[in-house]
Amino acid sequence: MKVFELTRIRITLWYVLIVMSISVMFSAVIYRGVIGNIESSFKNAEIRFEKNEGMMSLRKIAEVKNSNVEVTREVLHGLFLEELNNSRKNILFLLLVVNLVILILSSLVSYLLAGKTLLPIEEIIKEQKRFIADASHELKTPLTSLKTSIEVSIRSGKLPKDIQKLFQYNLEDVDALNELIDKLLNLSSLESKEPVFDHLDIKEAIETAFRRVKYLADEKKVSINIDTKNYQLVGDIFSLTELFTILFDNGIKYCKQGGVIDLKVKPCKNHLVIIVRDTGIGINKKYLPNIFDRFYRIDSSRTSSTKSGYGLGLSMAKKIVENHNGNISVSSEITKGTTFTIKLPLKQ
Ligand code: ADP
Repeated sequence: MKVFELTRIRITLWYVLIVMSISVMFSAVIYRGVIGNIESSFKNAEIRFEKNEGMMSLRKIAEVKNSNVEVTREVLHGLFLEELNNSRKNILFLLLVVNLVILILSSLVSYLLAGKTLLPIEEIIKEQKRFIADASHELKTPLTSLKTSIEVSIRSGKLPKDIQKLFQYNLEDVDALNELIDKLLNLSSLESKEPVFDHLDIKEAIETAFRRVKYLADEKKVSINIDTKNYQLVGDIFSLTELFTILFDNGIKYCKQGGVIDLKVKPCKNHLVIIVRDTGIGINKKYLPNIFDRFYRIDSSRTSSTKSGYGLGLSMAKKIVENHNGNISVSSEITKGTTFTIKLPLKQ
């Protein structure tokens, strides 16, 4: 699952950052400590040498290294500095190697630990999705028989007028429930099943979606303009058709009578860029970051006069685009309209 892999890498990076900060801090302390110690040892040795306190061994070293040079304090000081620089380099190299080993080990261990930490969460989420799919499935059968019974009762014509009206409302509620269940099933299959990718023509997906929503658009006198060529790409034709249906459906739903929806497709490097722009009621900027969340709806009163939804359409749209390794973004201006921009890679 992509999201879990990304989270795992993110947690790993945090773990490594923490471990490496501690390691680098310790290395700096060790470096300062060791070099400080060496420096003070050398200083003490020099003082002792000046006092002629039996520095034979040091004299010997100096004489061996510079056999023609008389052993003076300056000569020894030069030698000390040379040794000190060598020690510095050695310690730095050693600390670098140690830190590199810590980096590699901590990355591996962190990656494993992050995986272990996320495993139960991944399981719970999978379980939840399975539950939603199963529950939706189980609800479908009784709802279908309920719908049939209500329809039969209404059609029989034997019911008093007020009861008939009540049954009509019940039928609308059952239809709404059916729609919600279909959407939940769609969403859970999008999340759990691997999409079936094949070569397809984007125009075909757009035109099928257009045919599906045409009667809604005509009803509301919303015109839909499509500007695309036969662009070929690799993807899942069913889910891409669903994606355009959702965007058209929303465009119609949130447009006033006589509104316009423009869909334009243009290739850009290795991508297809699809822009769906409507002249609808628009979305307040503060809500934009949430509209792709599941069950998120902005003030339902905005749509009271038209068909309402469940806040699942855009989360499905986002999932479909992500399954195609693309991305979807939105910009909007209140009362002016909304624009969705989708980028789909041509090759998967
Ligand atoms: P819904 O079923 O409520 O339409 P969606 O997930 O499709 O659910 O959309 C989430 C919310 O984003 C909607 O409640 C609506 O307020 C807003 N929205 C989506 N598309 C548009 C649009 N084209 N114009 C204005 N608002 C939109």
